[in-house]
Amino acid sequence: MSMRRVSIFGATGSIGQNTIDLIRRDAARYDVVALSGGHNVAQLARDARELRAEVAITAYEARLPELRAALAGSDVEAAAGTQALLEAASRPADWIMSAIVGAAGLAPGLRALEQGSTLALANKESLVCAGRLLMQTAKAHGARILPVDSEHSAVFQALVGERISEVERIIITASGGAFRDWPMERLQTATLAEASSHPNWDMGQRITIDSASMFNKALEVIETHEFFRVAPEQIEVLVHPQSLVHALVGFRDGALMSHLGAPDMRHAIGYALHWPDRRHLPVARLDLATVGQLEFRAPDSARYPALRLAQEVMARGGLSGAVFNAAKERALDHFIAGRIGFLDMATITEQVLASLEAQPDLIDAAMTLENVTRIDDLARQAADQAVLKKTG
Ligand code: NAD
Ligand code: MG
Repeated sequence: MSMRRVSIFGATGSIGQNTIDLIRRDAARYDVVALSGGHNVAQLARDARELRAEVAITAYEARLPELRAALAGSDVEAAAGTQALLEAASRPADWIMSAIVGAAGLAPGLRALEQGSTLALANKESLVCAGRLLMQTAKAHGARILPVDSEHSAVFQALVGERISEVERIIITASGGAFRDWPMERLQTATLAEASSHPNWDMGQRITIDSASMFNKALEVIETHEFFRVAPEQIEVLVHPQSLVHALVGFRDGALMSHLGAPDMRHAIGYALHWPDRRHLPVARLDLATVGQLEFRAPDSARYPALRLAQEVMARGGLSGAVFNAAKERALDHFIAGRIGFLDMATITEQVLASLEAQPDLIDAAMTLENVTRIDDLARQAADQAVLKKTG
């Protein structure tokens, strides 16, 4: 059996660590090429040493001396910064995990596809920012993208052996996040700590807060549209507080196929890692008799303005996805920094969308990495200005 060359971008994060957990259990099958991280240099160095990676990269140049010191005496190269990340993504690999959080994952993901690697895509933001570019790059280079978001992995699995032309609708489930049972009046005063704890999933802080606001689900609706090429009106969101049914695919004969599993990201990561095979995974087995009942309800649109914004973004098209994502990322930064309230994230994002969508030369520019990066910058600046205006 030949060794598979694998790289993990965002290795120190929640998805990255779950990926490492699976690889570590079966280390003899894998040759680890690159591991990347951010500020968590000690963790990065520990994992790179243990997995005997070729190179470890921190996103931050100021952290390079620390990473070098932590890797001293090992065979692992130390590198830092955006260019180093791109260089590492260009190293031949069979399988690359894209698990950086935010739009920063786009350029390395494109680079990985350009050299024909299979890209396991957790970084949903890159599909929201530049879905067509990502899909076309994969096609042009004979590379494959495998979804890692749990809902999209579930849809992908329900579609095995099926034809997308026979799909009537795709239903992605949402736990409803931390505040699903809170009265609306309380939402604006929700604290960072309250928004940072998820009822079912253990994830990075940013996606956890995005789950409470449903911005995460809004991104996932757009991700569904971009990845599976179904029309916006074919995509439904269903609140399912237990997070056991991850998605359902409805076919034109009315049949619904669904994927169920314990809320453990190693399911989706493992499926992408072993695809098209299925191998044993160390995840809990569902006992439905113990679960007893599955609960579903329609999402409350007043509570979750992000879902309406996703519809508007898909209807507008062009580069509006990049604006939406960048404005949301910046609004989230400001919420984390304590400058704005929980509901302000949606208001700010909506304002930025309105102001940039009024500029067709920007929104309707060709979808290139350069144009996406430029509009991403402008959207972040517009979000900063909107926050300044609000806070005085
Ligand atoms: P995380 O915050 O736990 O980890 C993020 C990783 O990205 C870290 O390694 C960090 O060092 C790195 N990083 C952060 N900013 C960077 C930058 N500017 N440049 C380069 N690297 C940077 O995040 P996570 O929860 O693991 O999520 C990662 C991605 O997977 C996100 O796109 C998220 O939406 C998606 N996702 C996560 C889950 C989950 O269960 N955590 C589920 C579905 C999808
Ligand atoms: Mg998801």
